[in-house]
Amino acid sequence: MARIAGIERETLDVDVAIVGAGPAGLAAALRLAQCAHEGKRALRIAVFEKGASVGAQILSGAVFDARALDELLPDWRGRGAPVCQDVVSEEFLVLTRGGIWSVPAGLRPRALDHGGDHIISLGALWRWLGEQAEAAGVELYPGFAADTLLFGDQGQVIGIGIGDKGIGRDGQARANFAPGVDILARYTLLAEGARGHLGRTAIERFALGRGRAAQTYALGLKELWRVTPERHRPGHVIHSVGWPLSAGTYGGDFCITVLSAGLLSGWSLAWATPTRHSIRLPSCSGSRRTRRCETPSPAASAWAMARGCWSKAGCNRCRGSIFPAER
Ligand SMILES: Cc1cc2nc3c(=O)[nH]c(=O)nc-3n(C[C@H](O)[C@H](O)[C@H](O)COP(=O)(O)OP(=O)(O)OC[C@H]3O[C@@H](n4cnc5c(N)ncnc54)[C@H](O)[C@@H]3O)c2cc1C
Repeated sequence: MARIAGIERETLDVDVAIVGAGPAGLAAALRLAQCAHEGKRALRIAVFEKGASVGAQILSGAVFDARALDELLPDWRGRGAPVCQDVVSEEFLVLTRGGIWSVPAGLRPRALDHGGDHIISLGALWRWLGEQAEAAGVELYPGFAADTLLFGDQGQVIGIGIGDKGIGRDGQARANFAPGVDILARYTLLAEGARGHLGRTAIERFALGRGRAAQTYALGLKELWRVTPERHRPGHVIHSVGWPLSAGTYGGDFCITVLSAGLLSGWSLAWATPTRHSIRLPSCSGSRRTRRCETPSPAASAWAMARGCWSKAGCNRCRGSIFPAER
């Protein structure tokens, strides 16, 4: 996605422009809409998502702590949120070249204690959250990728520029060229996930990382497996660390039963390491041993894989997350 310079563009005026319809963007939009409703104020809130639909870019399958959803929509159960599988059992394993050690519950790291959590399809939950946001008056624009930040006379952010469509590899407009719109906003909120290019522009331009160590990131992979019914344990979560990663390498893997019944049970699996380390694909024996199955089931040809990235140090690596963005 890019923009061709020197083109006259249509503009759209909104009160709040939010980039990214992930969990953060949708939750922020919905909370703002709730505040506007409580304060009896009309607020035009628009969320721009580069994926073709809300939830399309989100990796499926996750262990979910519902605390934030409890605060945002206390009646989420009554509204039919697709959160139907509780975590019922957990294992934390340490892998060595020759064995597997199961860590007793009392010695498990707190971050890996999922009592009271749920297993969800992230895509399904965020599609549902998108519907709740729309019902509260938020405008959702899937298929609209923000390409640039727009700056005002004082250097402040005054909105975002949506990327042009129909630009050839040579950078020239093709027959189907459609210029991107300029979104002019009183407030701009960046919720594009880890390493979003607009966020990095803002961090650099407003020196938000000055005096802080560089951000660190982790990469993750998820695989969706079909397993036979006898291997299917709804609500069971396994985390493991150790072999084949070296002692100094951050990472591990996890298995979550993500579907509720029958042959189409699924596993989600990730191998997360810092970017400077190579990713060892989960077909290697460590993960297989974690899953305790030597080969995928005959139905495994339909497995799906996705990758993602997240920042490990988060806001600690920024002086703040607020920059001049008032129009
Ligand atoms: C492998 C892996 C496993 C994980 N497992 C779990 C788990 O089990 N439980 C859990 O709670 N969390 C888990 N997470 C973390 C969780 O996915 C993230 O914390 C969460 O998705 C962050 O939400 P977000 O809205 O900040 O960003 P994202 O989910 O990344 O959403 C950002 C959105 O912005 C859109 N976007 C980006 N750039 C633009 C642009 N320029 N214009 C328009 N739209 C844009 C993207 O398409 C995307 O929809 C996992 C992450 C990974 C990578």
